[in-house]
Amino acid sequence: MYGYDIFHEKLILNLLENVRHQNPAQAYIFEGEIGLGRYEAARLVAAALACPEDMPPCGRCNSCVSAKSGTNPDIVDVLPQSGHKSIGVPQVRELIKDAYTKPFLSRRKIYIFRDASIITEPAQNALLKILEEPPEYVVFIIIAQNAQSLLNTVRSRCVLVRFAPVCDEVMSRYIDKICPGAKNKDFVIRYARGVPYTARKIVSDENFEPIRQDTFSQFCKLFSEKPLTAFELGDYAAENKDNISRIVELWREFARDMLLICTDAKDMIINIDYADKLYEMAAVMDEKKILFILKQIMNTELMLSRYVSVRAAIVRLALVVGEY
Ligand SMILES: [Zn+2]
Repeated sequence: MYGYDIFHEKLILNLLENVRHQNPAQAYIFEGEIGLGRYEAARLVAAALACPEDMPPCGRCNSCVSAKSGTNPDIVDVLPQSGHKSIGVPQVRELIKDAYTKPFLSRRKIYIFRDASIITEPAQNALLKILEEPPEYVVFIIIAQNAQSLLNTVRSRCVLVRFAPVCDEVMSRYIDKICPGAKNKDFVIRYARGVPYTARKIVSDENFEPIRQDTFSQFCKLFSEKPLTAFELGDYAAENKDNISRIVELWREFARDMLLICTDAKDMIINIDYADKLYEMAAVMDEKKILFILKQIMNTELMLSRYVSVRAAIVRLALVVGEY
């Protein structure tokens, strides 16, 4: 849409309509999980807000052209200042001062907060007054994974725009666009669960499929009864420790698929290209065992997030699974 990657067309068209009728809100929260294109949507809405023409964004004026290339001085990305991890009161004070300077070449001035979770509480408090009564040409867009992470007082001054995961059709069109003829498209659509940038990550990573194949053969070893296998898997994990979170995540999805097969929800499985093999494995196990394995894999993910040694975590997993 207008050269921006937009996955929520209706939602954004509504916002653009408001801009065209000269009644946009002055503060928005764009809420949704990472990878849904909230920032790209914010850039398009900002371009429309900034464009001085009748049908914004016209795509031709100075404001639109510089908005597209990310150089419009009136569209400000609010990120922590260098050397800081969060946005604190001094930065907000500077921003407020800047907000009272009129736009340079646009109709409005737009501040896009890239991540709500890093605005400190005192900084949010410092923002309240300008959120309540901004100069008439100023609009704020705050991007959040969860709007609840913001103070009530901030939330109540903003219009909440919720970005949901997108449908398979939108995902399919997007994959066709970024990777025409992608071989594993059906798998990618299921794996990415409505998050377009997750799909992009997979199709643009040439290592993903080889890793997945390798990961699947290691997953099968988890069910081997030979005691030595646990240590082999430990070695494999240690050798691939940079990819370990992806490997364990894939194991989780394989186990989840086996559980779905057992519970007769076959149409929901993600790894459809491994369906035959997964059926075979699920057929010789009962539901309880698969559920146990799935839980143990999730435990392992938790341990890894707490920096337990990779080898130790995987050996433990293989041993408890083997002993079931
Ligand atoms: Zn324009």
